[in-house]
Amino acid sequence: MLPSLFISHGSPMLALEPGNSGPALARLAAQLPRPQAIVIVSAHWESDELLVSSNPQPRTWHDFGGFPPALYQVQYPAPGNPQLATHVADLLGAAHLPARLDSQRPSDHGVWVPLSLMYPQADIPVVQVSLPSRQGPALQTRVGRALASLREEGVLLIGSGSITHNLRDLDWQAGPDSIEPWAKAFRDWMVEQLAADDEASLHDYRRQAPHAVRSHPSDEHLLPLYFARGAGGRFSVAHTGFTMGSLGMDIYRFD
Ligand code: ZN
Repeated sequence: MLPSLFISHGSPMLALEPGNSGPALARLAAQLPRPQAIVIVSAHWESDELLVSSNPQPRTWHDFGGFPPALYQVQYPAPGNPQLATHVADLLGAAHLPARLDSQRPSDHGVWVPLSLMYPQADIPVVQVSLPSRQGPALQTRVGRALASLREEGVLLIGSGSITHNLRDLDWQAGPDSIEPWAKAFRDWMVEQLAADDEASLHDYRRQAPHAVRSHPSDEHLLPLYFARGAGGRFSVAHTGFTMGSLGMDIYRFD
């Protein structure tokens, strides 16, 4: 059975400059059985209600500004899967999480940047589920649980965000060995609670974790972790690291 994954997707430039993360993502994909389809929650599709993308051919959305022209040339033409999208919405509905289909949604960079490194052929269908970020961690845990059975159907479930994400605190000159202590303390606390499977503490991370607000001024990049945890089983760290001093690049799997 496939695990669920949490992926720190980093800056959009990861697509062109994969650093240590690209090889880690490629290795992870190579270790897993080939998925029939991918269901992914990205930090970059915030919404009020739960939405499921039923777009049969989502376009690659370069949802950022100020990057080199080459990044805007990157395409990730993976198809959607409207039938799977309906199945996802049905599973959510059965768990008292009403969801609506969205047939227009393009793929944001939280989807195509990591998937272009894992499955560069772009031949595995992708269905995206939105992130009602104002409803916090507990909702994402429920969404993950509601979709966990898809793992038995050969579907890879992914939460795409960032273990730490404070864009105002980045040092663009910092090398991979320069790590801000506050970011490391937050990351280490999260890993400790994940390993202990302490759901109450994880849901209350904003009060309990060291430097929580500095690590996540807003928490849309952390919430996909709760989706991945809710969807999966035993926690392990697949990859760890920081870039730009404080941007966590950890990848976790839940088997
Ligand atoms: Zn992001």
